[in-house]
Amino acid sequence: MEGEPIFPRRADHGARILVVDDDALSRRSVRAMLERGYYQVETAEGGEEALALLSTYQPELVLLDIQMPGMDGLEVCRRIRELPNGDLLPIIFLTADERPDVHSLAFRAKGDDFLRKPVLQGELIVRIRSLMRLKRLQAEVQEERDSLLDLQKQREQLFHFIVHDLKNPLSAIQMGLELMDGEEDRSPTSKAHLRRLRDTAQAMGRMIQDILDIGRAEQIGLDLRRTRVPLDTWIPGLIKEVEAQAQSRDHRLAWGCPADLAVEADPAFLRRVLLNLLDNALKYSPSGSQTRIEAIPCGNGVRLEVRDQGEGIPEPMREQIFGKFVRLEEGGPGARSGSGLGLAFCQLVAEAHGGRIWVEDNLPRGSAFVLELPYAGVPSP
Ligand code: ADP
Repeated sequence: MEGEPIFPRRADHGARILVVDDDALSRRSVRAMLERGYYQVETAEGGEEALALLSTYQPELVLLDIQMPGMDGLEVCRRIRELPNGDLLPIIFLTADERPDVHSLAFRAKGDDFLRKPVLQGELIVRIRSLMRLKRLQAEVQEERDSLLDLQKQREQLFHFIVHDLKNPLSAIQMGLELMDGEEDRSPTSKAHLRRLRDTAQAMGRMIQDILDIGRAEQIGLDLRRTRVPLDTWIPGLIKEVEAQAQSRDHRLAWGCPADLAVEADPAFLRRVLLNLLDNALKYSPSGSQTRIEAIPCGNGVRLEVRDQGEGIPEPMREQIFGKFVRLEEGGPGARSGSGLGLAFCQLVAEAHGGRIWVEDNLPRGSAFVLELPYAGVPSP
């Protein structure tokens, strides 16, 4: 019967639809079809009016004629897509345009669907329904994604607060250990225990700092303070820092560097990279072996190599170990402690300097970590 609703009631009924068409007859007939499908309808005679209605009427779908005087439908569609969340508004082109390339024009303007006039009521309603359902699902997925990202951010912040708060108790422990080490009446065994505790606390401190720096670097980048680092005097100082640790494992340290070789770098970050690499060399090599640091001029930069005689890194893992939390051994009773963050930190520092880091075989045994830094620092972004 004329005027009777012909579709059963559904979730999207009552949704607001904006019909944009310069032809009054066409507007009237589309309005009638939509109202029979339980939709609310507003109409606009042209592009400018349609854009103005977006904020006041807030349509949930737009039916858009293409050929209109002034701003045509393609331009209206492009402008809607540029608005915040404009890509979520379903747009169907409804046109009598006979140009052969009109479909591709419509999809290039980022329309969602296309119907030729004269349009059949059944087809129009079915297309609207499926498009609205699709967009609703898309909006739901986006909402869930946003809330997951929020949650992840909150968890990361909490993680960083906790790690940051570990710094104070750890420095209290380190200070206590220093004081105890200074007491003269200690037995050699007790001194050895103390040294091991000090090494462990130091490694923990580095791990905490790595976690904090990686977090900060991912958010705002590393704040580098570059100066000229004279490597031939700097490397021996670095070796001194790990000498006690190496001796306690019966590990020999050696180095080589041409006189006057220097690099433009942040000495504090460079020191931590090398300490991470040396710590790993000691941790993953048998006692009685040797690790060698070598500085070599190359092309327009410097290579710093840390070569150990340890277990080496299998070829398929050589890139992956620079990822966060990647470790080659499972945790377990015999496993060596570690966070899997040291090398991720080293890579961040290398890249912030415009350089790179990788690992290769140290023949005949072990691995060679190579840090390559340009003399003149980072290329401009
Ligand atoms: P961590 O040592 O805290 O686990 P790293 O990011 O420094 O984390 O290293 C990642 C993994 O790479 C280590 O767990 C280890 O399995 C492997 N690795 C790193 N350095 C060496 C090395 N010199 N020799 C053998 N394996 C190494």
